[in-house]
Amino acid sequence: MWPAIINRATHDRLVGLLGNPERRPANYGRPRVYPLAGLLRCGSCGGKLITYVQPRQGRGYGCRKDETFVCPGRVRIAAEPLEEYVSGYVIEMWNSPRALNIAQSDDDRMKRISKISSEMAQLQEQKNEALRMKLRGEADLPTYRAVTRELDAAHDQLAREHKSLTSEAAMPELPDPSLAWEDLSAVDRRALTEMLVDKIIIERHPSKIDKDGRRHYLIRAIPYQDPEMEAERLNAVHEARVKIVPRV
Ligand SMILES: [Zn+2]
Repeated sequence: MWPAIINRATHDRLVGLLGNPERRPANYGRPRVYPLAGLLRCGSCGGKLITYVQPRQGRGYGCRKDETFVCPGRVRIAAEPLEEYVSGYVIEMWNSPRALNIAQSDDDRMKRISKISSEMAQLQEQKNEALRMKLRGEADLPTYRAVTRELDAAHDQLAREHKSLTSEAAMPELPDPSLAWEDLSAVDRRALTEMLVDKIIIERHPSKIDKDGRRHYLIRAIPYQDPEMEAERLNAVHEARVKIVPRV
């Protein structure tokens, strides 16, 4: 039985990888978008969840460590209802003070970068001035060297800060909140999600073990046919399993 299970797992993973735009060769067929790829973490082992497709269950995200038995949780979750749940959160946050804070923090960073640039230019000017004084004989060599060393050290410090501020992934601008979520492109939705959400932790389906060692799920694991009951069930599932960690 083992080889069959491993093949199934490997198959699921391959299909998932092919669906992941980052891993897909440039010209690979029709693009399939996994809006939350890379953002999800396993609540059991902390590992990244990967994308997969199963013939009957459809698209999902799961902990790949369940294949090697490193992770005790075997965390898996259906993709579409989860994506809808997270979209709801992002849309709500989009208009919130928190979103404005994030945009603001980017402004602050831009201001800091331009301040550092002008400080670096000033240091360079002081260095030139020290050299002119040395050439005019107004400063002796030991003084000139001591001053240059100090200026170089201050310049290096600023250059390091400048580099770290500018090399962080540039934050996209917050889209206009009056736009409808549906009108945003998949790329914009993803950018907005990344801007507001640091990571999303997925816990295992809530359950308890009885005295005979049998596991009982506290929320029904099988979908209802009735759309209203199903919506209620999914809401309870996500409330219990999904922890969204905001960026700011
Ligand atoms: Zn795990």
